[in-house]
Amino acid sequence: MAIAKKLCLDNYGKPICFERLPLHPSAKKPKISIAINALGLIKVRAPSHIQDHQIIAAVNKHQNWIVQQLKKIHDRKACYPLPVYEHEAKHFFLGQLYPLNIQENPNKKQQISLQSCQIQITIRVNRPESIAALLNSWYRFAAIKNFSARLYAFQKKTPWVNWLEKPPQLHIRKMKSRWGSCSNRGVITLNQHLIKASQECIDYVILHELCHLTEANHGPGFYKLLSQVFPDWKRVQSLLKQQGFALLI
Ligand SMILES: [Zn+2]
Repeated sequence: MAIAKKLCLDNYGKPICFERLPLHPSAKKPKISIAINALGLIKVRAPSHIQDHQIIAAVNKHQNWIVQQLKKIHDRKACYPLPVYEHEAKHFFLGQLYPLNIQENPNKKQQISLQSCQIQITIRVNRPESIAALLNSWYRFAAIKNFSARLYAFQKKTPWVNWLEKPPQLHIRKMKSRWGSCSNRGVITLNQHLIKASQECIDYVILHELCHLTEANHGPGFYKLLSQVFPDWKRVQSLLKQQGFALLI
């Protein structure tokens, strides 16, 4: 998804970035659309001939709605404080919250695994930074394993992908405001934090990006295809939006 322009405005108490995205060519009427993601980033979609001042006017026209949405996001954020890296603090993994069971032992090898409904950690020195680093590497390892397996499990559902000669490349990295992206070279990038979400959310994001390999934009063709391969996408998309704050930290 190409980002044509980023504007920064200060109208809502803090600077907000507006991503200006091209409209899908099949859109009947060129219009400006405004959406707010789970992190409060306002995305404005507008045809390229629309000027910045017209976008700003459109955003200001919807000021009440924007402020309401930002307040909702702010309230939701207050419910999810920053993660704590200490014994019994809870962390998400595949849609469930698990407490950390930390054992400090300077003579043992550092280890982390999911056992008996707890994230069992053996650590040489029990410091929050060390726990955070170990947890991060565990999430990363689990993300690589899970996302690759699921990606390849969707081969039959996605006949438009040339799985034999040009399978999609999978990149995994931590992102702050999006779950996945797809480049026109066939590279699918997934957010490492997605491993904290349920398997159906992970599957939805992977199939969403696989659909982008043939339908680059969010036009009617894209949603038709997505509905074929993942009929329940609206429910899962809104679930992911609600949980976003808790998972993207
Ligand atoms: Zn998309």
